Amino acid sequence: MQTQLADFIRDTPEGREAEAILRKCVHCGFCTATCPTYQLLGDELDGPRGRIYLIKQVLEGQPATARTRLHLDRCLTCRACETTCPSGVEYGRLADIGRLVVERQVPRQGVDRLGREALRQLVPNTGLFGLALGLGRRARPLLPRLLADKVSAADPAGEWPAARHPRRMIVLAGCVQPSLRPAINAAAARVLDRLGVSLVEQAGAGCCGAVKFHLHDQEGARMEARRNIDAWWPGVAAGRVEAIVMTASGCGTQVKDYGHLLQHDPAYAEKAVRIAALCRDLSEVLAAEGDALETLIAGSAAAVERRRIAFHAPCSLQHGQKIRGVVEKLLEAAGFELAPVRDAHLCCGSAGTYSLLQPTLAGRLRADKLDALVDSGGATVVSANIGCIEHLAAGGRLPVKHWIELIDEYFTALRQKI
Ligand code: SF4
Ligand code: SF4
Repeated sequence: MQTQLADFIRDTPEGREAEAILRKCVHCGFCTATCPTYQLLGDELDGPRGRIYLIKQVLEGQPATARTRLHLDRCLTCRACETTCPSGVEYGRLADIGRLVVERQVPRQGVDRLGREALRQLVPNTGLFGLALGLGRRARPLLPRLLADKVSAADPAGEWPAARHPRRMIVLAGCVQPSLRPAINAAAARVLDRLGVSLVEQAGAGCCGAVKFHLHDQEGARMEARRNIDAWWPGVAAGRVEAIVMTASGCGTQVKDYGHLLQHDPAYAEKAVRIAALCRDLSEVLAAEGDALETLIAGSAAAVERRRIAFHAPCSLQHGQKIRGVVEKLLEAAGFELAPVRDAHLCCGSAGTYSLLQPTLAGRLRADKLDALVDSGGATVVSANIGCIEHLAAGGRLPVKHWIELIDEYFTALRQKI
């Protein structure tokens, strides 16, 4: 696509990146077919090709309007369009650049502005979020439905094994997960402990930065990335850390992008690249332990009752990190029967804070996703991202867990039966 970027952005790093992306787009429209918001709304401007056009116009100097911002707000940043695009258009990066420009040209007002600011302050702050969640759980009957859905009770975490192995990995605690589902990281620690790896949460690390980044506070996201790098760096520099593990795929997508996020920061650019290279989704870690895992499982699948389950692959896993089929293989190796789920490429509507900011569209996407999951015949749904897990669980139609909790239960059951 030919572009003539306006003076205000042409010779900036963002302008150069945007221009390179825009030039790759041949305007074929293949991406439109797999865009969840286009499927729901049927408007070209609510699909990737239309949004690319809107961003192009703004970057070429046409002033953005509230309408431009609305079409960009409705985008889930699920990146299904990137998976479909035959030309390798990095829509997500272009949307990040375009949204920031639009945000400056059309500032938010009133409730919209206040609501986003509240989310920016509350969600990434682990302590504050935990406090608010605790209060919300007590006041649940009095809350409006949209909020009541978000304050489910948490399962107990269970035992976290002592760090006894020479092999050591760091796991990100994250911002909302410790309060919403503390059992996820504890289950990961127990499973890895059985495989000879000690998993530790590093004090000083916190939110990966994705919440602020997607609320257009990119500098705030950089600050959070720097804080995490500072917390992890001593262990990494000393060679004591084999990997930095993410149990939420949304966080993994963000941390794997630290190199890009901090590329213009001379103090952090190199460190960020190293941290990003060490970052692994939990499924990648377990898949790499193939032999040890097989030894644990060998000959004993029959010892545990096989259950038919459905896996919901988060967009951040399948489109953001391009990890497909890995969790499914691990679950099958552990004796679970995977139910095929139709339209598995489509977003469930969670998408970070999208379910709060675009509740109508998010609710329709969740209803469609839950229909597909129920129709699959799976008795339990498992996923790989805290946002999707909470959003789908709030639909109330099927139990929803993190897949590592099932693997952990599987090993626990094995130990009891063998
Ligand atoms: S599929 Fe790729 S090249 Fe085609 S319109 Fe979409 S983004 Fe552009
Ligand atoms: S990121 Fe998702 S919602 Fe946004 S344009 Fe691409 S496919 Fe559509």
